[in-house]
Amino acid sequence: MTTPQHPDLGASFEQSRSGLRDTHRRSLMRTLFLVTGSALVAFGCLQILNGYLWLAAGEFVASVVLFLGVTRINRTPHLQAWIYSYLVTGFSFALLIMLVPDASVAAFVWVLMMPVLAYLLLGKKEGFLLSAPFMLAGCVTYYFHLEFVADARSMIDLLNMMLCAVLMLGFIHLYETRREEAEQRLFTLAQTDALTGLSNRASFQSTLARTIAESARSGTGFALVVMDIDHFKVVNDTMGHEAGDQVLRDISHRLTERLRTTDSVGRLGGEEFGLILRDVKPEDSFELMDELRQRIADNELKYGEALIRVTASFGIAHYPEDGTEAETLFRVADHCLYSGKRAGRNTVVKAGVAAIRSPRRTSKQHV
Ligand code: GH3
Ligand code: MG
Ligand code: MG
Repeated sequence: MTTPQHPDLGASFEQSRSGLRDTHRRSLMRTLFLVTGSALVAFGCLQILNGYLWLAAGEFVASVVLFLGVTRINRTPHLQAWIYSYLVTGFSFALLIMLVPDASVAAFVWVLMMPVLAYLLLGKKEGFLLSAPFMLAGCVTYYFHLEFVADARSMIDLLNMMLCAVLMLGFIHLYETRREEAEQRLFTLAQTDALTGLSNRASFQSTLARTIAESARSGTGFALVVMDIDHFKVVNDTMGHEAGDQVLRDISHRLTERLRTTDSVGRLGGEEFGLILRDVKPEDSFELMDELRQRIADNELKYGEALIRVTASFGIAHYPEDGTEAETLFRVADHCLYSGKRAGRNTVVKAGVAAIRSPRRTSKQHV
């Protein structure tokens, strides 16, 4: 059994701080380098005509650096540092353009572009922290550009600019907040079994892979338990599918209420569940699961006028005694489970130990 990856949701949520995956951030940066580099060549030529030779020289040098960046951005392991360098230099350069004595009023539109780029490339928190001070500096520069807002017309200009900047930042912040919430919801949904609210198979397998890695580092053991409800088909056939669903929810509740917070439970599919018991000795896991088996067998679920009783069988594999890989541990636990089923059900079987049967012969559930 291999551990499945979440190529889109999980990976992007954990790896990327913005809504874009790293590959997309790289390709956006490449496009930005190309566009900015080309634009700076054009602006540099115009600044020569304008008489600002030092500004033109700066723009030509920057465009050469950006074109070199196009060839490197796909391979660099320091993407975040590149993004910060680009944004901080770009925003500072935009401020510098606004500060030249007879700056074109159109240069101030770059203030409105700042939050768009920063949020897209850095995410909500870092995007805000970087763009807000630069936007404020841009607005203050505009105030000086308007020569201290001496008349009503200048005041209208300043208000237009300030209002637009505040709204732009506010809307982008709101959009990014909602997007992050939606991504978090999707991520949770992708990991959860809809019927029981437990981890689904994929998520359980990821937890198992993580537990194996942690145990290998710390040298501690854990137990993998596979549990299957006995003769569950009979519940569906005699009481209906809805009653079967109710039993699955009830069993999920029994499993989670008994286990420690460090343990993990998941629904592997149908009426089969997986449990990970951390830091547990083989003899203790056996006792713990037998107690759980007894609690399930003793439990009566009221469904309308009827009482439903089910039993379950358990197979236990131990890390590292029975295997050090997820696939081996699942194979051993499954083997134990099915030898318990063959032995008559309502059993706990651990590798190398005989099946424990309930003294009351409850191999079939009473419906
Ligand atoms: P055994 O003791 O050998 O495990 O027998 P069993 O009847 O439990 O196993 P079997 O594999 O024959 O049947 C499992 C049944 O579980 C069949 C399927 O319809 C039912 N099932 C699977 N998923 C769900 C579900 O989400 N809801 C309900 N109500 N039934 C389900
Ligand atoms: Mg079953
Ligand atoms: Mg089954």
